[in-house]
Amino acid sequence: MSRFWSPIVEKLTPYVAGEQPKMTNLVKLNTNENPYPPSPKAIAAIQQSSQQHLQLYPDPNSDRLSQAIADYYQVDNDCVFIGNGSDEVLAHTFQALLNHQQPILFPDISYSFYPTYCSLYQIDYQKVALDTDFAIDPDDYKVANGGIIFPNPNAPTGRLLALEAVQKILDSNPDSVVVVDEAYIDFGGDSAVSLVADYDNVVVIQTLSKSRALAGLRVGFAIAQPHLIDALERVKNSFNSYPLDKLAEAAATAAIEDREYFEQSCQKIITDRETLTKELTTLGFDIIPSTANFVFVSHKTMKAEEIAQKLRNESIIVRYFNQPRIDNMLRITIGTTEQCRLLVTQLKKILK
Ligand code: PMP
Repeated sequence: MSRFWSPIVEKLTPYVAGEQPKMTNLVKLNTNENPYPPSPKAIAAIQQSSQQHLQLYPDPNSDRLSQAIADYYQVDNDCVFIGNGSDEVLAHTFQALLNHQQPILFPDISYSFYPTYCSLYQIDYQKVALDTDFAIDPDDYKVANGGIIFPNPNAPTGRLLALEAVQKILDSNPDSVVVVDEAYIDFGGDSAVSLVADYDNVVVIQTLSKSRALAGLRVGFAIAQPHLIDALERVKNSFNSYPLDKLAEAAATAAIEDREYFEQSCQKIITDRETLTKELTTLGFDIIPSTANFVFVSHKTMKAEEIAQKLRNESIIVRYFNQPRIDNMLRITIGTTEQCRLLVTQLKKILK
């Protein structure tokens, strides 16, 4: 701390990102990245665009990417907002749309960045407890509030809220913005983008970091009606009017357009998630049903922290949260088929 710090910075508890180890020989199952590379067309697009006018600034509106996303979801391109990773889109959303007089609501177990944005922008919040089976109950979101945000599927639980339940939350809160953070939606859920035309209060946020394997480039987007997108644009243009650099825009556009590669790699992860779920169950784990690229598990006899440490000794890293109610849970990212097999082999040894 320094006497020059502003009071907001003094009180800020910064977000702590998941570990990104420097060693390359680890089986990295701790931060929900895609274990497969991005579409070859995205790599080719980076190579091609790196030879084109990097001395010039990029398109301030990322129009090509915005149009590709609009085409993919069949919405107008003025319903799309682009940012450097969905974290940036979320930051703008908190500032532009969730900063009202009343506290905002989010699940008590959800993305740990939400409280950080609240303290950064001085937004009051109330955490809403999940059900005993870690599900979000839409009826808990009927109280007066300054906005609602939840990941769907939820993180770190992996549990999906059905589209009808999302709709129920929207119906009970016509005067609040409801943000659906769909970082993991492509691994088996139905996107709330289909509700955007009918609801003037929904913002759907997605990322290219997970299902499109572009975490290293930082690309995310929001889809909502233009009056909400305008608010995000106003905030964005008050910071920095270049959401993406040229290489990121080119790669992201190619990745969105390459539907075949996207569908195949999501399907591979879904298949491996189902196989891993069965194998972990046989090994004595309790597993929350997941529609994400990770599973959230606890073991019937061995403590989560001990399992995490023993896996680490075998160069496999998974995510352990030292946090009330989930301190005996592990979040395990679905790796390649081979990495999943290796995980099961090591767990068999550890649990013997
Ligand atoms: N939302 C949720 C629920 C997440 O888990 C993550 C990834 N940590 C993000 C948003 C941010 O993803 P990115 O900034 O890579 O788009």
